Amino acid sequence: AKADGRNRFRYFDSSLDATARRRNLIEQELALAVSLGTLELYFQPLIDAQSHQVVCAEALLRWNHTRLGPISPGEFIPIAEETGLITSIGAWVLREACRVSSSWPDNIRVAVNLSSRQFLSPGLVPMVENAMKTNAMRPGRLELEVTESLLMNSTPAVEQTLKTLSKLGIRIALDDFGTGFSSLSYLRRFRFDKLKIDQSFISDMDTNEDGRAIVECVIRLAKDLRMSVAAEGVETQNQLTALRQLGCGEIQGYLVARPMSATAFATFLNAGDDG
Ligand code: C2E
Ligand code: CA
Ligand code: CA
Ligand code: CA
Repeated sequence: AKADGRNRFRYFDSSLDATARRRNLIEQELALAVSLGTLELYFQPLIDAQSHQVVCAEALLRWNHTRLGPISPGEFIPIAEETGLITSIGAWVLREACRVSSSWPDNIRVAVNLSSRQFLSPGLVPMVENAMKTNAMRPGRLELEVTESLLMNSTPAVEQTLKTLSKLGIRIALDDFGTGFSSLSYLRRFRFDKLKIDQSFISDMDTNEDGRAIVECVIRLAKDLRMSVAAEGVETQNQLTALRQLGCGEIQGYLVARPMSATAFATFLNAGDDG
C-alpha cells in the first residue's frame, strides 16, 4: 500500500509539474510576444437581428506561436492577469482596436474586452481617452465589455470608473450575463448600455424549453431597463429565428461569422455592402 501511495504521489507530482511547466513557458513566451508585437487582434461581427446589418465588432486576441501553435486567450489571459502582463496587452488591444476601427463606416462600433485587473489599474481612463483621441474616435463608437467578476469584488473605485467612462460617452456592456452569482444585483448598482447573454444559454435554447424561457426573460429585462441586448455564440438558424422572435437586438456567433483578421473583416464589410 505504501508503494502504491508513493507511485500515485509521484504520478500526481509529475502531472503537476507538467502544468506548472506549461504555465511558466506561456508566461515567458507571452512576455516575449508582447515585446516583439506578435499578438494579433481579430474581429467578430455583431449584426442587427432584424436588418442583418453589421452594427459592431468584438476585438478578440489571437496568439499563434511559431513553435507551440495557436494558444487560446482562454489559456493565456488568466496568466497575463496573474503576472500583470495584462496591463500592457490591454493597452495595446485598446489602441489597436481604435486604430483598426477608424477605417470602418462610422456607424459600426468596436467592442473591447476589459479584464478586472486592467479595470483596477489607475491608468485606465487616460489610456482609453488617449486611444480615442489618437484615432479621432467618437466615444459612442467604443464599447467596453466587463464581466461580473469585476463587480463581484466591486469597490467604490470600480463604480466610479464605470461612471467616468460612461460620462465620456463610452458604452459599457455586461458580458457573459447570467453566469455569475448575483447578476441581477449588479443591474441595480450601475446602468449598463448593453447585456450580452452568455452562449451557454443560447446553446440551451435548441435543447430545452427552460433555456428558451431564460433567454426570453433576459431579453424582456433588458428592454424594461432600456439596455440593448446581444446574444453570443449563435450557431444555428433555429437559435437566430427564436432570438428574432423574442426581440433580441444583436446577434454574434459562428452562424454569422467567426472572428477574423482586420483585413478579412474589411473585406467582409465590403461584401455586405453590395448584397
Ligand atoms: P468572450 O468575451 O466571452 O468572447 C466570446 C468567445 O466566444 C470568443 O472566444 C469567441 O471566439 C467565441 N465565440 C464566438 N462565437 C461563437 C460561437 O458561435 N460558438 C462558440 N463555441 N464560440 C463562439 P475566444 O476568442 O477564444 O476568447 C475567449 C475569452 O478570452 C473571451 O471570452 C474573453 O473573455 C477573453 N478575451 C479574448 N480577447 C480578449 C482581450 O483582448 N482582452 C481580454 N481582457 N480578454 C479577452
Ligand atoms: Ca466579450
Ligand atoms: Ca462574452
Ligand atoms: Ca462567453
